[in-house]
Amino acid sequence: MTETSVGDGEPAVAGCWCCGAEVADDERVALGGHPEVVVCLRCAKWLGRRAQRLLDERAALSLTAAVRRRVFDSRETIISHGLQRRPVIGRVLRWLDRRLP
Ligand SMILES: [Zn+2]
Repeated sequence: MTETSVGDGEPAVAGCWCCGAEVADDERVALGGHPEVVVCLRCAKWLGRRAQRLLDERAALSLTAAVRRRVFDSRETIISHGLQRRPVIGRVLRWLDRRLP
């Protein structure tokens, strides 16, 4: 990670270890044991979803886990077909994605 100071009073900028995007200090999170490793909020959300999916696979089948699994599977199907990039339906899908677990 390279951290760049952008001036007095402005947050430092660092590269996300996941996607490589330059992110300001208030738009990233660091690992607890390795604070030098930072990811942007978008990648942190993605990692959280992946972790939740693994936890759901290990847990006894609950209604909540089943619904979440259905959402994850639907998300992967949509992405594999590139529907999120379509003009009208893509906008709706991206809006919906921001509100789903
Ligand atoms: Zn990122």
